[in-house]
Amino acid sequence: MASVIVVGAGAAGMVAAWRAARRGHAVTLLEANGKPGVKLRISGGGKCNITHAGPMKALLAAFSAEQARFLRPAFHRFTNEDVLGLLAQRGVETYARENGRVFPLDQPGSAVRVVAAFEDLVREAGVELRSGARITGLSARAPRCSGVSLEEGRLEADAVILATGGASYPETGTRGEVAGWLQALGVPVAPWFPALAPIPLVTPQPAWEGVAFRDGTLHLRAGREGRRLAAFAGDIVFTKTGISGPAALELSREVEAARRGGGAFLAYAFAAEADLAADLEAMRTGHPHLAVQSWLARRLPDRVCGPALQAAGLPPQQRFKDLTREQARTLRTLVAEFPLGAPQAVPLSRGEVAAGGVRTAAVDPRTMRVRGWDNLFVCGELLDVDGPVGGYNLQAAFSTGFVAGDSA
Ligand SMILES: Cc1cc2nc3c(=O)[nH]c(=O)nc-3n(C[C@H](O)[C@H](O)[C@H](O)COP(=O)(O)OP(=O)(O)OC[C@H]3O[C@@H](n4cnc5c(N)ncnc54)[C@H](O)[C@@H]3O)c2cc1C
Repeated sequence: MASVIVVGAGAAGMVAAWRAARRGHAVTLLEANGKPGVKLRISGGGKCNITHAGPMKALLAAFSAEQARFLRPAFHRFTNEDVLGLLAQRGVETYARENGRVFPLDQPGSAVRVVAAFEDLVREAGVELRSGARITGLSARAPRCSGVSLEEGRLEADAVILATGGASYPETGTRGEVAGWLQALGVPVAPWFPALAPIPLVTPQPAWEGVAFRDGTLHLRAGREGRRLAAFAGDIVFTKTGISGPAALELSREVEAARRGGGAFLAYAFAAEADLAADLEAMRTGHPHLAVQSWLARRLPDRVCGPALQAAGLPPQQRFKDLTREQARTLRTLVAEFPLGAPQAVPLSRGEVAAGGVRTAAVDPRTMRVRGWDNLFVCGELLDVDGPVGGYNLQAAFSTGFVAGDSA
């Protein structure tokens, strides 16, 4: 029997601690917060999108090629079915939505039930869970980590698993400081970078708060007339300060990279320009007396339609028969490339996941052991792994946590 310290009682740390204890080790799980799983409790808007349904190969395809290569052994060792099986044992029933996202059966506070299930598993396996215990440093000199420092002293162990998460939502306990300590020990670490975050705009539209643009594509350009850098098909929702919603979250990482690179401009495509040109021509000949605004209202939300027409310099009563070539082009562009403007800095703190962390090349994917170290392991969001919205990030935390607990 060996002694194992696991730092961080989130998704990865709880699974790692449970697995190491089930293998017969004496496990201490240290958590800075007063209770475990604080980020899990707010995940999926409090419902917790636990994982994604489907073969693990398909889940891996949602990550970048490099990240997928790293995650492959862990994803096959502890699959989405394994996670759901474990939860089912604890009475948490789940279902997959049409889009593949897996949630507990709809009940108020379902994320809390997921946390309670993991907490039970951890305690039943004999793990000593210490809440309110923030570690302040590592006792380490390559190739060994002998333990951790706490405010009240040091704690030693035969192996240390770090599962301290990313650097977003610091109010959930994740401040990212452990990555800095690892870097100081010579472990390669990529800087924290915002991902899956809402995007503040230089010129927000607070009057449109809550309005959604649906079924189109969010485009990112290197400046208003610049080349197209990235696009994501999906909805956006206006907030007081900018935009949120699936497409905004998914594109936030590229938006921040473009912004730091010198120029970024966002636009929303409700439809393709070629289709619109044909449609407008059909309207001009088929319905010459129809007001342009009513055509626009079929594509743009009501609250946006009038102001957009005005901003484009088109009179509200403009009819198709009087539409000039220039006005037709303006109208087309409005729908094919509705300008949202330049983004402001995307805040790291509001990302559903933080990109960056311990570089995957520095970690053995079959054990989660940090290369060059005998007994130091990392897992979960502390790794430089970030997937899209849809349950992928929690699956990555569960799978890598399992492998770390199985290897320590
Ligand atoms: C609002 C929101 C919604 C989300 N929704 C989903 C979703 O529905 N589905 C999905 O797949 N992903 C979702 N995510 C992402 C997902 O929650 C995370 O990727 C995942 O929780 C990471 O797990 P982890 O165990 O690595 O880290 P965490 O769950 O963040 O756990 C890390 C733990 O380490 C503790 N800790 C940190 N530093 C120290 C220290 N020095 N000493 C002691 N303890 C420390 C922290 O307090 C924390 O409890 C969401 C994220 C957010 C912010």
